[in-house]
Amino acid sequence: MRPEIMKEFERAGELSLLNLAEHKESGGKVAGVYCLFAPTELVRAAGAIPVSLCGKKEAPISAAEKTLPPNLCPLIKSSYGYAVTDTCPFFAASDFILGETTCDGKKKMFELMGRIKPLHLMHLPYDTSRGHALDFWHQEMIRLKDFLEEQTGHAIEVQELKRQIKLQNEVRRLLWRISRYSAAETIPLSGLDMMTVMETKSSCCDLEAYAVLLRQLIEELEALSAAGVSDRREGAPRLLLTGCPAGKGSDKVLQLMEECGGVIVSLENCTGIKGQNLLVEEDAADPLQALASRYLQTPCSCMTPNEERLQLIQTLVEEHRVQGVVDLTWQCCHTYNVESFVIKELVEKRWNLPFLHIETDYSASDTEQLRTRIEAFLELMS
Ligand code: SF4
Ligand code: SF4
Repeated sequence: MRPEIMKEFERAGELSLLNLAEHKESGGKVAGVYCLFAPTELVRAAGAIPVSLCGKKEAPISAAEKTLPPNLCPLIKSSYGYAVTDTCPFFAASDFILGETTCDGKKKMFELMGRIKPLHLMHLPYDTSRGHALDFWHQEMIRLKDFLEEQTGHAIEVQELKRQIKLQNEVRRLLWRISRYSAAETIPLSGLDMMTVMETKSSCCDLEAYAVLLRQLIEELEALSAAGVSDRREGAPRLLLTGCPAGKGSDKVLQLMEECGGVIVSLENCTGIKGQNLLVEEDAADPLQALASRYLQTPCSCMTPNEERLQLIQTLVEEHRVQGVVDLTWQCCHTYNVESFVIKELVEKRWNLPFLHIETDYSASDTEQLRTRIEAFLELMS
């Protein structure tokens, strides 16, 4: 039995568009964001609403390929395709764009996207372990604050920023708590439903309302778990999905993992739990410094070294009693592709668990081939 509240998460996108329209009618601004490195607390403290514009569908890719090279990751092409075709209502609603210099393809795409809407690019240092990287990223937070104030005409007050930091931290705690239900033997939430719950965080306008929904979900999960209701088939292999971001529209691998008989007990990617265990210090004298410190720890493959991703995977595999790891790489995503080697090494050497690396794109052309590979992978755990 599925939690009743899932219907609310499913209509969150629709509701979000209505809320955005009201916000804009009353003079509010909307910021389009593409990445976990975007400090959304700062955006909200400036009175703007951040919305994720990350492209997850194949439809706009052909339009993007008129400008971008075909051998670029589908996420970048889809995101850019939505911008040039003006077919995404969230992009249309965005007054300005925040980008970061994460991977090469994305940062160069942002140069072109900046021709369509005002775009601020945060320059990201790639090393979390050195003090000067943090100093540099702190300066980038200050530069972003200036940009946001200019775009919104709204001065960012320290008290409001601290309030937003607390609220965002609370959402992170709730998401982490919800993800922990999958560590149990019997929980009434599939991996695809977990993805929907987590993904809503990047499109919701009203963070307080989202926190209320998350608390209601926790209440239902408690009740269903106490009644012994489970979404899982007896003995279904417990899987962890890691790698590139995947969400509604680019979820073919997740669907196959569950259709073929597995159960996704943990989603270690940006649409999942990545970063939700990292809180911003709430009472810091300099909240911009606190934001810089937290966001620099985001365990993305564009960072080098990226030890934090290995640590997160280690925690999730052990706590969720994972039996197999699937690593998803979008074609032409070099950073996740190269990093797959160390993930495989960790999974096989440390726990002697089966590991499957899948490299694919947004098209359905390889679905049956992937199904065969995933079925064979799941047989290793039966
Ligand atoms: S994988 Fe890295 S670059 Fe992509 S959205 Fe996540 S944090 Fe950003
Ligand atoms: S999936 Fe990889 S190549 Fe694509 S935007 Fe993210 S980091 Fe860049």
